[in-house]
Amino acid sequence: MKKYIIIFIISFMSVLLSACKNIYQYEEGKVNIVATTTMLGDLSKQIGGDKVAVTTLMGIGIDPHTYSPKASDTNALIKSDFIVYAGLHLEGKIADVLDQLSEEKAALNAGNALILNEVKLLFDNEGNLDPHIWFNVENWIVVAESLIEKLSLYDSQNKDYYTTRGENYIKQLRDLHEWIIIKTSEIDEEKRILITAHDAFQYFADAYGFQVEAIQGISTSSEASIANINDLVNLVIDRQVKSIFIESSVPQKTIDSVISSAKSRNYTLEIGGELYSDSLGDGIDSQYIQAFKNNVNKIVDGLK
Ligand SMILES: [Zn+2]
Repeated sequence: MKKYIIIFIISFMSVLLSACKNIYQYEEGKVNIVATTTMLGDLSKQIGGDKVAVTTLMGIGIDPHTYSPKASDTNALIKSDFIVYAGLHLEGKIADVLDQLSEEKAALNAGNALILNEVKLLFDNEGNLDPHIWFNVENWIVVAESLIEKLSLYDSQNKDYYTTRGENYIKQLRDLHEWIIIKTSEIDEEKRILITAHDAFQYFADAYGFQVEAIQGISTSSEASIANINDLVNLVIDRQVKSIFIESSVPQKTIDSVISSAKSRNYTLEIGGELYSDSLGDGIDSQYIQAFKNNVNKIVDGLK
């Protein structure tokens, strides 16, 4: 009997400990930012530096389209000083909560920032706005500029700090944009076909001259159909596409079905590597600029 009590105590303690880990830590003396995605979390850190404490709700490899908020997320959003989110329905299940909170406290809605700056937004086949704005670096620069402006308004005594850091970061983003143009020019015109699991790369294609095809639509919550897969295999064989790409935040099964369907027609299609789509990675790839470079290197190696 004693053994069961000990087991009970241990499991109770571990539940308690894991609950503690989720408790939101408010840092006095800093602007406490809660960002939804890893891309926005990184942007907040790049611009906010040590004047901000950033909590990112969605971890590495998490799919924002289908993300369900935890109780601790709501707690963090309510207690935070400043919210940074993508909008354009990227955060499918918490979009309404974010919109409402952004009316009550300081916030940056990246999609709205682009709309206000009259940046060209793309639509999917069903007429919905495409939320994957970060794959055109020029869009990301507009989002960065808006964040500098909004943070400086909220915490005006550190305006110079945010402006200096922000301008320096924007310079790095401009360099990234130029580098992508040069790097992708290694791929011949007719080989610029990027096939991925879900339709996250339209802005990338539009900005850097690619044709993109995806097995699923803009949101991962839509289903891949057999017809989609057959169409894609036709395209792959027609255009002699060498590689297709998996995504870190989307299961691999639909990509595998394209590969096996091509194989059944005696065509060998390779996986060109794993791209960061709706989430950044670990270590150095937890930074947008590095993760984007990593993506572009894989795309160039896989297609040229
Ligand atoms: Zn997506």
